[in-house]
Amino acid sequence: MNWTDFAGWGRRVADWAADYHQTLRQRPVRAQVKPGEILNALPEAPPELAEEMEKIFADFEKIVLPGMTHWQHPRFFAYFPANASPPSMLAEYLVTAMAAQCMLWQTSPAATEMETRMMDWLRQAVGLPGSFTGVIQDSASTATLAAVLTMRERALSWDGNKAGLSGQPRLRVYSSNEVHTSIDRAIWISGIGQDNLVRIPVNGPRRSMDPDALRAAIEADLAAGFRPAGIIACTGGTGVGASDDVGAVVTVAKDFGLYVHLDAAWAGAAMIVPEYRELWEGVDGVDSMVFNPHKWLGAQFDCSAHFVRDPEDLVRTLAIRPEYLKTHGHDGIVNYSEWSVPLGRRFRALKLWFLMRSYGLEGLRGRLRNHVDWSAALAERLRAEPDFEITSEPVLSLFSFRFSPEGARDLDTLNQRLVDTINDDGRIYLTQTLLDGAKVVRFQVGQFDCTQEDVAFAFDVITEIARNMETA
Ligand SMILES: *Cc1c(COP(=O)(O)O)cnc(C)c1O
Repeated sequence: MNWTDFAGWGRRVADWAADYHQTLRQRPVRAQVKPGEILNALPEAPPELAEEMEKIFADFEKIVLPGMTHWQHPRFFAYFPANASPPSMLAEYLVTAMAAQCMLWQTSPAATEMETRMMDWLRQAVGLPGSFTGVIQDSASTATLAAVLTMRERALSWDGNKAGLSGQPRLRVYSSNEVHTSIDRAIWISGIGQDNLVRIPVNGPRRSMDPDALRAAIEADLAAGFRPAGIIACTGGTGVGASDDVGAVVTVAKDFGLYVHLDAAWAGAAMIVPEYRELWEGVDGVDSMVFNPHKWLGAQFDCSAHFVRDPEDLVRTLAIRPEYLKTHGHDGIVNYSEWSVPLGRRFRALKLWFLMRSYGLEGLRGRLRNHVDWSAALAERLRAEPDFEITSEPVLSLFSFRFSPEGARDLDTLNQRLVDTINDDGRIYLTQTLLDGAKVVRFQVGQFDCTQEDVAFAFDVITEIARNMETA
């Protein structure tokens, strides 16, 4: 393909994209294909000879599209949102066109300096103090891994990378059971080991870590000769939005000199709205925090905002600094590859610039406030129905419910069947979770094109499908 043909195709793809988004409501939200259907439609061997783009594009529409679950569908109420707003997509087109590797300042000064400025804009937007510095990671999982590695190195007096973990004191990390599985994986990969992730019981309506139990667990570990390294708290857990009392966790951590990492991957975006910030009260005292602008805020995946109080600790943990990388530190030059596990990095800050300028913080706040209000209204409507119960109260725009008609025996099976039937129907998309061992249905509002009518429509679909089900 030459660049003239490329320009023509670029225009065609842009037209296709606009049309796709404008007609999404006509498509089922979750893909309706069977396992293997797409695989079997793809030739077993690669082509020896060049093919026409016209034919490749036709096959994209014919083979690929039916196998897509439409995350940008306005009636996507499953998992968490992965909003790709139009300005952020345009920035990604441009980034793709330039395709730079932005690991060092000199490999693209604009990418580095834009990242520094955008992370500071985000810091101000969510109300963090100026003592925090940010870096963009590919995912919250990576940011949490970097935090756990930092905890480990700090607890081992910076000897773990060099000497390995055998012969070292047994490290311990603390979290509740409500945290995301990325915490478990960070604990495995860091060599700390699942057995040393100590689970602290939760209590209260927010399912927060019990600070007294946390303190007791640390004291017991110290008495047993173990070495506590850090605590991972969460704001807006994945299941039902569990949120720790961050201030209380920080108080305990300070008493023992422990590192605190806060996972606010989903809920952090909502902190651009001042009245929601009480959910993470005490955040000023954590050592690091991650939230994903690629979830609710509208920045196309991937874009994870990782804030640290002390970048030196992070760089000390992750920087390799071989000869060819030695440009660090001159005239305020930053090499962000020293702040993360991968060396290569994309220019991710550009979409934040396009996004924040194009909506303004006030425009973004308005969207998030709507989602929270519409979700709360739906929870109230379901609560008022005799055969539905609200199983967890709304945390921002997330709540859970259960269909529990009189006389129904196995509610877990019934509610799983409800979720499956709704998703096979395709008009909306929901997912389930386990809450204290019981199967419940999650509902979250967050897609940028979603309207109040779409949320009201979800009520109609849920109640209609539930009442048509065999319940005995
Ligand atoms: C989505 C989510 C994650 C994982 O985010 P990735 O960016 O996909 O790694 C971690 N924690 C919470 C609370 C989440 O909601």
